[in-house]
Amino acid sequence: MDRKTKIIATVGPSLASEQKIHSAINLGADVIRINFSHGTLEDHKQFINWARSSDKQVAIMQDIQGPKIRTGFVKENTILQKSEEINLTNQESESSNESIFINYKNLFKDVDLNDRIFVDDGQIILKIIDKQKNNLRALILIGGELRDNQGVAFPDSNLSVSAITKQDIEHLKFGTEHDIDFVAVSFVRNGKDIKSVRDIVPKDVKIIAKIELKTALENIDEILQVSDGVMVARGDLGVQLPIEQVPFVQKQILDAANKKGKISITATEMLQSMKSSYRPTRAEVTDITNAILEGSDAVMLSAETSIGDHPNRVIEVMSGICEEVDSRNDTSSLQSKEDLKEDSFTTTLARAAVQIADDIDARAIVAFTETGKTPLLISNFRPKAKIITFTTKVKTLNQLNLFWGVEQFHIDRKEHFSEMLKSANDFLLEEKKYNKGDKVIVVAGTPPNMEAATNLIRVHNLGDV
Ligand code: PGA
Ligand code: MN
Repeated sequence: MDRKTKIIATVGPSLASEQKIHSAINLGADVIRINFSHGTLEDHKQFINWARSSDKQVAIMQDIQGPKIRTGFVKENTILQKSEEINLTNQESESSNESIFINYKNLFKDVDLNDRIFVDDGQIILKIIDKQKNNLRALILIGGELRDNQGVAFPDSNLSVSAITKQDIEHLKFGTEHDIDFVAVSFVRNGKDIKSVRDIVPKDVKIIAKIELKTALENIDEILQVSDGVMVARGDLGVQLPIEQVPFVQKQILDAANKKGKISITATEMLQSMKSSYRPTRAEVTDITNAILEGSDAVMLSAETSIGDHPNRVIEVMSGICEEVDSRNDTSSLQSKEDLKEDSFTTTLARAAVQIADDIDARAIVAFTETGKTPLLISNFRPKAKIITFTTKVKTLNQLNLFWGVEQFHIDRKEHFSEMLKSANDFLLEEKKYNKGDKVIVVAGTPPNMEAATNLIRVHNLGDV
């Protein structure tokens, strides 16, 4: 694999068979994202089983809905016409040209005259023109087909929502029962929201905060402090903020994550035209390239793979773009992370390891890890060489699938560093077909099995054991 940037693929009806999931993984999906805003628990379970039966390593990301406000089921072929009027209700009902159901208890309290309402990431825009106690009437500013369960955003209103819903808690329990690797949390506002998820999921599950609200941007530092990573959730950001701010906010979030040595993901509409088209637009290819150059560890596919016409082709195109960017080693802006201060000892070691590896043109950086922390920091300094990681933990093995530039393997517990070194040495020569005399940089915590922090860097000539 020459690709270092990782790919997250969202599953859905277009990938709904074991064979389809397996080809998505074989073509390059490193992480399978299950969007808990759609589908049933039975569907989710099936996707998890299909993904896990693949021969190739894959991580499962559970994306919980959070307090996302949505429409419900819609009468077939409901096309909203511009300039017409429509009623809004929060009484559960089938939506139609007469009335739209919105699942928000405080709809009548929090939404005022002249507030705009964005449906389906702003594909449809409404404006409140009349407000009675139990009735809201809206003008259709931009029309279109109203589909089932679309997100609803209120950029002009102040909403009183709680962060983690009852349904999220049920979903998190389901995720725990199915041993998922990552949880992505929607509509996070602050560090406390992440902590309340942390209290529910097992300790070794990694938590990704989806940054999609203005409030989250204001609290980005405290959110990063308690999360394992962040997602630039451009779909909702694009309706919560003036859309022309999205590119700047993307850079801001990626920078903040990279300075703290956290996982960073750029998401949404990356190959949107390929939902139906066979080739991407130039603008899409350029956007993905820039997102990687700006420091994204992973790029995400949503509707393109979940409900698109050719999910496999989409993954191939995404993979090709990533490989091209990765082959250029053009990540200089990321290598000078003067202010990466997180856990400064491990950070210093990671930086030194990358510097030595780059200076001597090492074939690989070999990292032993239990939690994934050391390879993540090394990855953050964007070494030219591949990061080959060995771990005894299956959960970590899965999670490393999301880390930029990391390739991971399982290893049995060892008593001494010399045994660890020998097994890595033999593995690289025999399995990876490296050559005797190739130089690798080894990073480890010694003594092994002591929860020791990384404290060793060694330049090793393969064969010298
Ligand atoms: P979603 O999150 O796809 O769950 O809405 C991503 C985004 O908002 O961009
Ligand atoms: Mn979103």
